Amino acid sequence: MTAAADLVLTNAEIHTLTDPDETAEALAVRDGRIVAVGSAFDVDHLAGVETTVRDCGGRVVLPGFVDAHTHLPMVGRRLVNADLSAADSPEEAVDLLAARAGELDAADGPDREWVLGFGYDESVWDDDRYLTAADLDGVDTDRPVAAVREDMHLASLDTRALDRLRDGMPDSDVQTRAGEPTGVVVEDALDELWAAIEPDRLAMRRAVHAATERATELGVAGVHDMVRRSEAPAVYRELDRVGELPIRVRLNYWSDHLDAVEELGLRTNHGSDRVRTGAIKTYTDGSIGGRTAKLSEPYADSERADGDSGETAEENRGQWVVDPAELRDIVARAAAADLQVAVHAIGDEAVRETLDALESADGARHRIEHAEVLTDDLVDRLAASDVVASMQPNFLKWAREDGLYADRLGDERRLTSNRFGDLLDAGAALAFGSDCMPLDPLFGVEQAVTAPDDRQRLSVTEALRAYTSGAAHAGFDEDRLGTVEEGKLADLVVLDRSPWAVDPGEVADIDVRTTVVGGEVVFDRGGAK
Ligand SMILES: [Zn+2]
Repeated sequence: MTAAADLVLTNAEIHTLTDPDETAEALAVRDGRIVAVGSAFDVDHLAGVETTVRDCGGRVVLPGFVDAHTHLPMVGRRLVNADLSAADSPEEAVDLLAARAGELDAADGPDREWVLGFGYDESVWDDDRYLTAADLDGVDTDRPVAAVREDMHLASLDTRALDRLRDGMPDSDVQTRAGEPTGVVVEDALDELWAAIEPDRLAMRRAVHAATERATELGVAGVHDMVRRSEAPAVYRELDRVGELPIRVRLNYWSDHLDAVEELGLRTNHGSDRVRTGAIKTYTDGSIGGRTAKLSEPYADSERADGDSGETAEENRGQWVVDPAELRDIVARAAAADLQVAVHAIGDEAVRETLDALESADGARHRIEHAEVLTDDLVDRLAASDVVASMQPNFLKWAREDGLYADRLGDERRLTSNRFGDLLDAGAALAFGSDCMPLDPLFGVEQAVTAPDDRQRLSVTEALRAYTSGAAHAGFDEDRLGTVEEGKLADLVVLDRSPWAVDPGEVADIDVRTTVVGGEVVFDRGGAK
């Protein structure tokens, strides 16, 4: 007589997302693991008096999503402070900030020194201009005010914030009109702002709590979070210790931490059931939007007329943020300490240098983050290596007709950016993540199944695999996570509608009904069946 299950999901359309994908009607969970998958007849009898039995009403059940590239503290800060992505005009953004100031007056607790808003995007406003100090000066009578743009490369400050931070900012990154600062600051000038508003332990705890809760609402059971000089790692471990971390977190430490990681003897995959050490994360190049991704061919819009003189800017092929020599040094040190390496490389030149560096290092399964622009030989090299292509289908939103990538890359490279189809055909390891732009796996799945070039378009099953078993593999978790099989951890998501049954363009509209992590229901939308 076997012990009764803790949880039974029945009357479901369970997709194992194994290869090939199989479907089943019911599953049973005991001690956080899946102990049976099969027909209701095979599984239902495992329910005892203490068992929670859920009738899924025929809904689709999948392995819980694993997001292979996140910045959860940023998501949390956006949730905790004013979320300016909701604004449709400069006036609405100012109203949201004023409402936040009012909240701060009424509340106790951390994060009260500044009035902060995140995620404004003037490009969708009729009045498409940046917020200025003149807009923000009325928001609060005592506190400095800052509104950070969606791309995080630009912020708008009120006069109080400018006065406080201006001295430390490079002049070239502080915009002026008639010699006076407008309140708009860019790039390196933001370092002063980040340092001034860095959340303390309590504020970070609040942000991480908000972000992990949001993750569970979206079916995310595990993340690979990129951490850099913040309270976040301490907070994740603290929440884990007290049993208040609802999802699994793999910590990818920025290479600034390499000395400390070596000194403390942290090792990839070491940790608890919920929180583990992941990779050392480093950059190579910048971004396509900023024209700083390293390309072998120049940007399509690099030759801009320079005023009336008719001179053209030099052909731009992007730039190194971390140059190849430094990259090889980081990779060698990390590999020598048994650490996985995750390298940000967006342009094909950056990917080439990264593959050179990774292939020279021992230790398998390093990762390239983004890998957006690939030549054919790079696709083949990725497929022939153990290196994981850790990619973000969300970024296809910029590859649409007349979108940002059409300007930056031209039409041909726009269509061949993010070569998911070619990579899978060639046999490369593909993992999906969101980069929190936005945090939402089903949004990414929709992007992948509607890719602008049909050669790169994935099937629903392929896209879901990249967000489950693919991402699990990128985190050495293929034996624990990523498929619905006996023996795997019971990380599961129940969807309201089937992604195989809706229009490809409606996948992102599917609601998550229930999220289960380690056999525990961590999110439940409730409502009628
Ligand atoms: Zn990122």
